Amino acid sequence: MDSLLKKLNCFYEKLDLYLQSSKKDCGVCGECCKVTSVLRVYPLEMENIGRRINNRVKMKRFRDFTGNDLIDIWGGTSGHCPFQEGDLCGIYAFRPYQCRVYGHYDYKGRSLPVRCVYRGHAVRYDSREELPLYDEFSNLTEGYDETVREVAGLNKNPPSG
Ligand code: SF4
Ligand code: SF4
Repeated sequence: MDSLLKKLNCFYEKLDLYLQSSKKDCGVCGECCKVTSVLRVYPLEMENIGRRINNRVKMKRFRDFTGNDLIDIWGGTSGHCPFQEGDLCGIYAFRPYQCRVYGHYDYKGRSLPVRCVYRGHAVRYDSREELPLYDEFSNLTEGYDETVREVAGLNKNPPSG
């Protein structure tokens, strides 16, 4: 499990380098964390964030916030990400994959807020498989899911003898 978390954090560094080529910078904005977003956070990423912040209450709020595979957030206090601090991300170093690619990539070419600096510069995508380094990311998340299943199976049927 720990090695997967390490790999995930190395992967995030690689992804950020890859995305730097767009030469755009959000600056102090945070609009997409409160007005519109399509956010999926994978169990491996939840584990990563949970271990870093060590705050069960905030994690519960974040789990509720990302409770569906795909959520649309359109304004309203309840739609704000609980990790947003002012206009900034309070978990920036270990924010999820989709928070990293958002802006650089635009779902169906129409998910970016009006004032987003990436508007007109983003790469359109129609399915997650088109996102950058997605296969590598997907292998990591699947590896985690498999490990969790194995551990759950062992707990149900402990080896005899
Ligand atoms: S985790 Fe950070 S970047 Fe992602 S929605 Fe929350 S505040 Fe925004
Ligand atoms: S991706 Fe766009 S809307 Fe989101 S914080 Fe960056 S500039 Fe703002």
